[in-house]
Amino acid sequence: MTARLVEEFVIPARHGRAFEVKKGQTFHIHQIVGGQVGDCVFFNADDYKEMFHCGQSWAINVIAGTGTSKSFRYFYSKPPRENVMMTVLQDTYPNHWGNMGGRCSQRLYEIRDSLAAGSHRSCQENLREALEPFGLTGDDIIDVFNVFMNVDLHTDGTFTIRPTEVGEDDFIEMRAEMNILAAVSACPADTSPTNGGKSAPLGIRIYEA
Ligand SMILES: [Zn+2]
Repeated sequence: MTARLVEEFVIPARHGRAFEVKKGQTFHIHQIVGGQVGDCVFFNADDYKEMFHCGQSWAINVIAGTGTSKSFRYFYSKPPRENVMMTVLQDTYPNHWGNMGGRCSQRLYEIRDSLAAGSHRSCQENLREALEPFGLTGDDIIDVFNVFMNVDLHTDGTFTIRPTEVGEDDFIEMRAEMNILAAVSACPADTSPTNGGKSAPLGIRIYEA
């Protein structure tokens, strides 16, 4: 069966965008020029109290043998629901930071880089802006999925962020198992190795089966 493209758009570098995906539709988060990390948040579009939970997705996939901290097949919502929100169908660069849930924020740029408050765009602010029209606030963003983020986890519990090696043709394809409200931020980080010191756009494609 050939999938029909129903919507396609580009999220500009350093910005975010929210979009809805209906149950049964699939969507791609894809590169435009390569080398770009995204921070993504997912809600049940019919009940925003149900949302993606990073720790539980990592744990259940590892326990069930369906994934690791870097890639997993099922995106679960937070306890107490723990429903499969999305299933990964294709992942051409299975190297994400799938067990973290954090993101860059104005506060992080302040702490890490001594930047003045509000002087650098951040994934937290991008996601907050994108979700505002849906009546959600920054406080509603609990966990994000750090798509395409290349991080070495060390046995002593520390980590090293490396430039992502995702190429311009890479993408992750997911099927919505419920109506989903998603928001994706093209991470504005240019003061850390995350995006190789620059910021690029990300693309979204939504398909009907
Ligand atoms: Zn970011």
